[in-house]
Amino acid sequence: MITLKAGMKAVVVGLGKSGLAAVQYLHQQGLEVAVSEFRDQIPEEERAVLEQCDVDPGTGLETGGHTAAFFVDADLIVPSPGVPADLPILIAARSRGVPVVGELALAAGRIQVPVIAVTGSNGKTTVTSLIGHLLGSCGKKVFVGGNIGTPILEYLLNPGNAEVVVLELSSFQLEVAEDFRPDIGLLLNLSSDHLDRHGSFEKYATAKMNLFARQGRGDTAIIGMDDPFLVAAPPSVTENVYGFGSQSDCRARIERQSVYMQPGFGPDGKGELYNLAETRLNSRVNLYNAAAAILAVRAFGCNEQDIKSGLADFQPPQHRMTPVGEINGVRFVNDSKATNVGAVVAALAGFGMGAEKEVILIAGGRNKGGDFDALVPAFRQHVKYIVLIGESASDLAAVAEEAGVGYQFASDMEEAVVMAFAAASPGDTVLLAPACASFDMFRSYEQRGEVFERCIRNMAEETYIS
Ligand code: ADP
Repeated sequence: MITLKAGMKAVVVGLGKSGLAAVQYLHQQGLEVAVSEFRDQIPEEERAVLEQCDVDPGTGLETGGHTAAFFVDADLIVPSPGVPADLPILIAARSRGVPVVGELALAAGRIQVPVIAVTGSNGKTTVTSLIGHLLGSCGKKVFVGGNIGTPILEYLLNPGNAEVVVLELSSFQLEVAEDFRPDIGLLLNLSSDHLDRHGSFEKYATAKMNLFARQGRGDTAIIGMDDPFLVAAPPSVTENVYGFGSQSDCRARIERQSVYMQPGFGPDGKGELYNLAETRLNSRVNLYNAAAAILAVRAFGCNEQDIKSGLADFQPPQHRMTPVGEINGVRFVNDSKATNVGAVVAALAGFGMGAEKEVILIAGGRNKGGDFDALVPAFRQHVKYIVLIGESASDLAAVAEEAGVGYQFASDMEEAVVMAFAAASPGDTVLLAPACASFDMFRSYEQRGEVFERCIRNMAEETYIS
């Protein structure tokens, strides 16, 4: 556990939600807090928090970058999750022996209730919120946060009456997690993502595997067994390792539209069947997500009936394979959150592989450093036509050519939707799954998804009028 003593000087690097929570928590613990911020300006509401925490606006705050002089007398440095771990200022501090710790490392040993932590390249938000929802159905008081919603240090500021903490964790948070140890850790899958920040797949994978690094006896590891990398490098320290996926030896196995749980958790040694056909989790990716979440809450001690009623009324988060509607027999699906290649491959795998391909894909945006080559077989198998948008349109056009799929460039989302609809026949699906970040054209993936949905609604009105 990281020592925090009154009078120590901590420098928080980068504000934002997590950084602000770190400032408040460290101040609450009696430390003197200073802030080094990359942005030139700090919004008024963030300044107000700094003032409440006695951050001196002169000597305790630097903006517009990070200078060596500002860090000279720091006893502890806490970078926010968005700050690269290899920032020269952080490397220099480490070499002087100054602890550089993330929010998870600070929280380690200080959370008084069991912790369930979820990571992976895709599905984290869905699985984290599903676990929170299922625990609620089982009558548990839950805190859900981390990389979604409320930062973990905000929870520590005011733990309330939560009986269990469920955290979504990114590779950035796990990179500087030190002693953090979840009672139940879930690693859903691993595909290339954020390589612009981690540098290589190996470094990214190592950060993710950190989730299990401190686990010991009595802890539980849950891993996606359909992922070749995870099968090859399973966590070594824990005795309770449960797999989910399509293989026959998985503890939670996907069978058509159900998740089958092998005997073992129930007192009578019977298997359990969770039928998702009538739920909103009835898609290929969400069957996997449900399997992971059911394993976690079953390992936690929830009972089968409560889990089933929770599954029945779960509403998956928006912009993730969200059905938008149908025009003249053409379905529209918003998967704007598919910002990496793995998510697009998984989305396309949910479509049929008949002689007639049925997906018109809208893709493109800002490349996050991933390798588009893995899209070639998925395009070849499932995609009938592609409409390309954004900065990476020409790179994706090369992938489409290699896969032998026709494509067109669109200058904005409205044009993309019209082009995609024109290329579709009744029975086809127009799928927005960009494989890229949104920031070249939109504020966020949410805004990109909203614009997509609005363009469809506008087109629907025009189509029915004409
Ligand atoms: P994350 O929080 O890891 O980004 P989300 O639940 O927000 O995960 O989903 C991100 C994207 O990944 C969406 O496009 C979604 O459709 C897709 N996705 C969700 N679950 C999975 C999964 N298990 N495997 C692959 N892709 C998934």
